[in-house]
Amino acid sequence: MKAFIAANWKMNKTVSEAREFLKTFIPLVKGVSDVDIVIAPPFISLAAASEEMKGSNVQLSSQDVFWEEKGAFTGEVSPQMLLDAGCKHVIVGHSERRQYFHEDDGVVNKKIKAARKAGLDVIFCCGESLQEREAGKTFEVIQREVEKGLVDVGPDHLVVAYEPIWAIGTGKTATPEQAQEAHAFIAGMLAGVYGNKSGIIRIIYGGSVTPDNVDTLMGCKDISGALVGGASLKPDSFSRIVHFKKEK
Ligand code: PEP
Repeated sequence: MKAFIAANWKMNKTVSEAREFLKTFIPLVKGVSDVDIVIAPPFISLAAASEEMKGSNVQLSSQDVFWEEKGAFTGEVSPQMLLDAGCKHVIVGHSERRQYFHEDDGVVNKKIKAARKAGLDVIFCCGESLQEREAGKTFEVIQREVEKGLVDVGPDHLVVAYEPIWAIGTGKTATPEQAQEAHAFIAGMLAGVYGNKSGIIRIIYGGSVTPDNVDTLMGCKDISGALVGGASLKPDSFSRIVHFKKEK
C-alpha cells in the first residue's frame, strides 16, 4: 500500500512563507513516487500553494471545511471552494477543532459527508486524551469517534489518522507498541464495518512525529503513514520524514 505522509501546518506561515517553503521543499521530494505527499496550509495560502504545487508530486489539503455548499455562513469555506482552490484532501475531526471549536462527532460526520459528496478525499482524525488513556478508555473513545464519525461514509477516498491527543505538539510520541496497538484496533473495526474493502483505507499516525522517530513508527505493521504538525514546518525536516526508511 502506498504510504501517506501529510503536513498539517495549523495556523502557521503567511502566504509568502508558504510559497517560500514550497519552492525549497518540492525539489527535495522530486522523484518520490511511493508516497502520497500532502500539505495542509491555512485557508488563505491554499490558492498560492496550489500554484506552487502545479506539476509536482505534492498534493494540497485544507485543514477544515464547512458542510454547506454556499450561503450566509460568515467565515466558513465550502467543499466546492476548496476543490476550486486546488485541494484534493481535507482534514476533518482534528482534536484541536474538537477541543477549541467544540466540534462533536455529529459535526465531524456532516463535514466528512459533505466533503466526500463534493469529491474531496478525507483525512479523518480520531484519538484519546491523556485523561481518557489513564482511565483505560482509549479503545472506547476511538470506537465511538470512528463509529459516529463514519456513519454512512464508504471506505473510498478515506484516510484515518490516529492521533493520541497527549502526543500532539507535546514531544511525547506514542511508543511504536502503543501506536501499533491502536492502529490494529482501528483496522479491526474498519474490517468489521467494510469487510474486505477496508484494506484500501490507510491508517496513519500523528503525534510528535519527527525525522528521528518516523522510521520506527513506519516499521509498524498497521501504520501506513503520518500526519505531521511541528516537524512539517521546515522543508528539510519534512523531506526527511517523507524519505522514511522502515525500521523494525
Ligand atoms: C497534528 O497537528 O496533527 C500533529 C500531529 O502535530 P505534532 O506533529 O506537532 O504533534
